[in-house]
Amino acid sequence: MTAPTGYKTRRTFAIISHPDAGKTTLTEKLLLNSGAIHLAGEVKERGERRRTRSDWMEIEQKRGISITSSVMTFEHDGLTLNLLDTPGHADFSEDTYRTLTAVDSAIMVLDAAKGIEAQTRKLFEVCRMRDIPIITFVNKIDREARDTLEILDEIMETLALDTAPMMWPVGAGVDFSGLIDLERGRFIAPDGKPETDAPGVEAIAERYGATQNQQIAASMEGLELSRESLPKFDQAAFEEGTLTPVYFGSALKSIGVRELLEAVCKFAPEPRTQPAAPQPVEPGDPACTGFVFKVQANMDPNHRDRVAFVRVASGTLKRGMRLKNVRSGKDLKVANPMFFFARERELADEAVAGDVVGIPNHGTLSVGDTLTDGEDVTVTGIPNFAPELLRRVHLSDASKTKQLAKALSDLAEEGVVQVFKPTLGSGYYVGAVGPLQLEVLTSRAQAEYSVPIRIEPAQYVTARWVKVNNAAQFEKFAAIHRLNIAEDRYGDPVFLAPSQWEIDRCAKDYPELEFMATKDRG
Ligand code: GDP
Repeated sequence: MTAPTGYKTRRTFAIISHPDAGKTTLTEKLLLNSGAIHLAGEVKERGERRRTRSDWMEIEQKRGISITSSVMTFEHDGLTLNLLDTPGHADFSEDTYRTLTAVDSAIMVLDAAKGIEAQTRKLFEVCRMRDIPIITFVNKIDREARDTLEILDEIMETLALDTAPMMWPVGAGVDFSGLIDLERGRFIAPDGKPETDAPGVEAIAERYGATQNQQIAASMEGLELSRESLPKFDQAAFEEGTLTPVYFGSALKSIGVRELLEAVCKFAPEPRTQPAAPQPVEPGDPACTGFVFKVQANMDPNHRDRVAFVRVASGTLKRGMRLKNVRSGKDLKVANPMFFFARERELADEAVAGDVVGIPNHGTLSVGDTLTDGEDVTVTGIPNFAPELLRRVHLSDASKTKQLAKALSDLAEEGVVQVFKPTLGSGYYVGAVGPLQLEVLTSRAQAEYSVPIRIEPAQYVTARWVKVNNAAQFEKFAAIHRLNIAEDRYGDPVFLAPSQWEIDRCAKDYPELEFMATKDRG
């Protein structure tokens, strides 16, 4: 495979969606359309192979879901596309959020009958935090769908995002009669094949008997209205994350997928400037800098390896080079970096900004670490989230205290859960954004560390990181709330909060302390 060189040819993106909207199907069809795979079914097949390889993923097997995110690299139109997979199950974890720190744009897939669903919204909020540009794909147009204008309205209303329709569906479900490609002024027939000219409204009406067919008539009326009321596509507004181009189609029937792929190539931005301290990292900087956004253990149980997924932020990462882990100050020889293609992994000889490489290691790399061969710099914006679930860890075998500490430390480092250690007393609290994380913790503590644990309810509802702007005030606060204070794994103070009310009260009583729901790991 001859990869084009230079970061300007990289497009690194993710698909965000609610479970069942069609992300897997769309991923597969994007790969098919780019020629990266040839047979439908390969994405799932690959998933199954991976599952049989991983011993701890029993939960995944049982539930038939994928917990792990990975990356798929493929080429189209002279560009190298890196598609980062975000797990889509309702019990999704912080991994999903963090993966979004490594992309430059995202495709938001909506079910045409359901519109914006809970998880789409959550993921969108994370994209918004980083102003990630979004291309929208309204899927399942071959089924009963909501009115097009209504869908566009919902995007604008609930996400405060302007919409610029690039396609217009003519009818939906059994009445689906094709798409009008507004950008190129052509018509896409119901089977997904583009025709050279868009027939005018009258011609469509005539062709499909719109006068008799209310749905088609309504579609055409909607199109007229949208022309008057909706903005035109604007690259700058899209890149600022305030406007989304909207495509329609059916992943299952391969309608509108090629056009979506072309849109990614045409509009998705090249690698962005990465926020970092003391100064941001530019993709064209000569020094090589990358950051770890995900660590996955036991991809190959025979080797008990860990793979750190590193997004290159600047320069060229070359196989065999030495990079410094800025957090630990230690050098790391990058002997076997890997690329992940649709079908296989391959040794990576060179990677540039926007690329994602897997670096096998034995625990030296953790989520949020910055690697560089230049001046010390730390990539910021890789957040920890206030746990929506806060639980106590009960150790069923008291002789294993040491192993428990090791297991929790390793698994927290990998980002499986967050661990909070109360400053007074013994024991640990763990936090997660989804219950699946807690199941994974229990099962891996047993399987990999022989530590039997039980997850018990805690008397706290959530945790807040305390940003201390005044040490004396913190002392006062700590004296009163001694039992509620813990440390995260970096030793930063955390308030274990019995209620939201308590958080609000403390924020009022101690104006120089900030109670933060996210912590930037920078
Ligand atoms: P994910 O959970 O978002 O990855 O969704 P999947 O890709 O697994 O799709 C969920 C279900 O919707 C599957 O049964 C798909 O066959 C179906 N599906 C996906 N895309 C379409 C589509 O465009 N039209 C129809 N009718 N069904 C679809």
